[in-house]
Amino acid sequence: MPRPPLVLTIAGSDSGGGAGIQADLKTMLALGAHGMSVLTAVTAQNSLGVQGAWALPVEAVRAQYRSVVDDIGVQAVKTGMLASPDLVTTVAELLSDLAAPVVVDPVSVSKHGDRLLADDALDAVRTRLLPLATVVTPNLDEVAELTGVTVTDEGGMRRAAERLLAYGPRWALVKGGHLPGQAVDLLTDGSAEHWLRAPRHNNQHTHGTGCTLASAVAVGLAQGREVPDAVRRAKEYVTEAIAAGFALGAGIGPVDHGW
Ligand code: PLP
Repeated sequence: MPRPPLVLTIAGSDSGGGAGIQADLKTMLALGAHGMSVLTAVTAQNSLGVQGAWALPVEAVRAQYRSVVDDIGVQAVKTGMLASPDLVTTVAELLSDLAAPVVVDPVSVSKHGDRLLADDALDAVRTRLLPLATVVTPNLDEVAELTGVTVTDEGGMRRAAERLLAYGPRWALVKGGHLPGQAVDLLTDGSAEHWLRAPRHNNQHTHGTGCTLASAVAVGLAQGREVPDAVRRAKEYVTEAIAAGFALGAGIGPVDHGW
């Protein structure tokens, strides 16, 4: 049997199964990869929001990472919720000598407005994590926090991407999904510019879209695809997953991976 690509997510747990580690592993399974996880934080969470969040000790994060990398190995990494400045710095230290592509989803606030990253961790994300990223995948809220650019149109997406690239990631994917009437993303490395447009589905059950997209990109990179190809395919995957999103609990349901 050929071995599936080996993909590691370094992220938080969503007890409701819609986002975080759970979305990552479902995406990896659906796309034929072997998913592995370094858990950074535990959230008590459901369709209504985040009721509690606890970061794990840095030693627990380091130990999980060493167990996976030293024995099994990884062909791509995705980072998600990192919770605290200490965890951001620890993850950046661990990734600094890894010879595999890294997708950074700079998770800061959930769709319900719950903070998943401490305010004082933003600087470590900019200066420690972004330089290690093969591609960084912020939504417009995360872009505003990281760059100070409030995006209202495609020109703003371009300005924001330039500021992100100044921190050192190879590619920036600015996700404009929250702009009214559009589902357009900009992928750029500072010279090439790819505008990715997808039909907007009027489905409110979109919990876990960001995690799903970043994980799908990581699978593509682990398969040896170039970044634009991996991102294009990931966008197709997440568009289908959003179309299949379903109601769960009394609030926002998850995207679906089983369509
Ligand atoms: N919970 C965890 C653990 C996450 O990693 C994320 C990811 O971004 C979220 C919640 C937020 O998901 P969403 O903004 O799609 O509701």
